[in-house]
Amino acid sequence: MKLLEQKILREGNVLSETVIKVDSFLNHQIDPVLMREIGAEFTDRFAGRGITKILTLESSGIAPATMTGLAMGVPVIFARKRKSLTLHDNLYTAEVHSFTKKETNEISVSKDYLSNEDTILIMDDFLANGQAVSGLMDIADQAGAKLGGVGIVIEKGFQDGGKLLRKQGIQVESLATIASLSDKQITFHKERAL
Ligand code: 5GP
Repeated sequence: MKLLEQKILREGNVLSETVIKVDSFLNHQIDPVLMREIGAEFTDRFAGRGITKILTLESSGIAPATMTGLAMGVPVIFARKRKSLTLHDNLYTAEVHSFTKKETNEISVSKDYLSNEDTILIMDDFLANGQAVSGLMDIADQAGAKLGGVGIVIEKGFQDGGKLLRKQGIQVESLATIASLSDKQITFHKERAL
């Protein structure tokens, strides 16, 4: 998605060879117009997949997931990283090792909002090694929900997550795929032919 790649080039902050921050439009401040475009793009890419719900992870997945939910006309659930005081039992849980924070979190979703009648689109802001998506897949699996696909705003193609998921036959759609962050330079994989 050209608009997103341009934004990443202009505003992305390369922290290391493997980590980029996009605090000005996705990870801290949110650009609602860009999020609306992102929502429309995912809606196109997953048309016909019968998505009934979007499942993401707090916090940076929420904005793009919500705009996609709005465009698709389906609800959005975000897995919590900490158990809330009002959420005790009745939870699906999974372990997720955070690539950026180097810690393992238990993520949870209330059993009230996922069922075996759902076809889930899993979404996140970044895809690196695929830990976050795998945790969300685990939760969808516990609910007996079908996986309709995985939508990622920014995939880092030099890490293994995308490969691992696509090898399982999962439709993974990334709106920008970074090929390299070497020497503080951001380069992208060519966009897929439309
Ligand atoms: P994975 O679980 O695929 O290894 O990593 C994806 C998760 O880690 C995402 O939820 C995202 O929040 C975070 N993450 C991974 N790499 C980056 C990065 O380069 N920049 C930012 N801002 N977050 C990242």
